[in-house]
Amino acid sequence: MALHFFNTKTNRLELFAPLEGNKVRMYSCGPTVYNFVHIGNLRTFTFQDILRRYLRHCGYELQHVMNITDVDDKIIQNAQKAGKSLQEYTAEYTKAFLDDAASLRLERPERFTPATEHIAEMIELIQRLEAKGYTYQSDGSTYYRIAKFADYGKLAKLDVAGIKPGARVDQDEYEKDDARDFALWKATRPDEPAWESPFGRGRPGWHIECSAMAMKYLGDSFDIHTGGVDLVFPHHENEIAQAEGATGKPFVRFWLHAEHLLVDGQKMSKSLGNFYTLRDLFDKGFSAESVRYLLASVPHRKQLNFTFDGLKAAATSIERLRNFKRRLETGRFPEGQDRAIAKLAEEARREFEAGMDDDLNTAQALGAVFEFVREANTHMDAGKFPAGNVADAVAVLDLFDSIFDVLRLEISSQLPAEEIEKLIAERLSARKSRNFARSDAIRDELKRKGVILEDTRDGTRWKYAGT
Ligand SMILES: [Zn+2]
Repeated sequence: MALHFFNTKTNRLELFAPLEGNKVRMYSCGPTVYNFVHIGNLRTFTFQDILRRYLRHCGYELQHVMNITDVDDKIIQNAQKAGKSLQEYTAEYTKAFLDDAASLRLERPERFTPATEHIAEMIELIQRLEAKGYTYQSDGSTYYRIAKFADYGKLAKLDVAGIKPGARVDQDEYEKDDARDFALWKATRPDEPAWESPFGRGRPGWHIECSAMAMKYLGDSFDIHTGGVDLVFPHHENEIAQAEGATGKPFVRFWLHAEHLLVDGQKMSKSLGNFYTLRDLFDKGFSAESVRYLLASVPHRKQLNFTFDGLKAAATSIERLRNFKRRLETGRFPEGQDRAIAKLAEEARREFEAGMDDDLNTAQALGAVFEFVREANTHMDAGKFPAGNVADAVAVLDLFDSIFDVLRLEISSQLPAEEIEKLIAERLSARKSRNFARSDAIRDELKRKGVILEDTRDGTRWKYAGT
């Protein structure tokens, strides 16, 4: 089977090939930097990372663009509450996002760039829509007339018959039942950031940024657009209306969406107390690799039920694979080569790829790896795993880890000894002054960086995890 994706646009599984040669042009809606991203967001970003890595494994080159939404309703509200300028406020959370992404080993897209650096492109796109009669003004704001775009609602499978022409919506986010003409450019309001434009002083609506930035860097038509399923409506529907309204060309060929993440079977929400950021999970002592593994292990079109038991199981799975790797590196094996084992390894790799080819079925891919590890361990236990097959087994693990990337220990586990000693001394003095929150935080930080502490009568000993 060659690479197939389920395309939200056509509602079916389709064979994938890029529009031009070997290069995949791809756009992903990036973070809205008004807060720490939660694990539901991180599920989508992890899916995108798996997608990137597998596309490259298939031999494609990538031109992947991700925007940073650094101006929208929520950001403005939060920045005002915090008494900070938009720039100050968003810089903080952009950095937090990059830190989280690095912890989760998410590859950086080829271009990762903020919306506010593309106001000119947004204005220009609105002007093109204006020239074609897609826009109108009301109370100083500029709206997109959805009745004018015949394909409106196709992506979200929306019944547009009931939509009242001329009804408008000003918020960036709204529900399907509220499909209305949406704001491309919002009239300036007191205390809000604003830019000059031919349509008056104001700021862009949220949706216009992605159409403008995607087309600037990827062209009028490109291969893949990804996001969470909650973005299908209205955001992606509006992106299509804006782009295709202006160019008259198909905007995106493959729309890929990651399903929701639930926590203990429930929708994640602050009021239910089941809302987690990556930092929350670190504070509970879980490793970034466990989180990454859990988020990646459920195929993106399935809802992911996040539980702490699931995270513990992820840690166990990683440990099993690391142990196997260690066994391959340090074990003593009889001379020779077993063709049956070589065949098993080859089948495992083929099965892994078959799973990934099938709309990135990570569960099937993982199943193939663990089945192989089980068989190989059985052979080793019986002394029937020859040295000549070590390379076959390493190749299976290498394939797995080129996509899942959880086997290597945290790079910062090479944290220099003097840094570690310094932190241990700081922890000791925190404990002496009964500042246990600080001392626990230091221990957790070190754990996260792959350093395990052991408190003994003779003081604190440390070692690198996995050694
Ligand atoms: Zn977007």
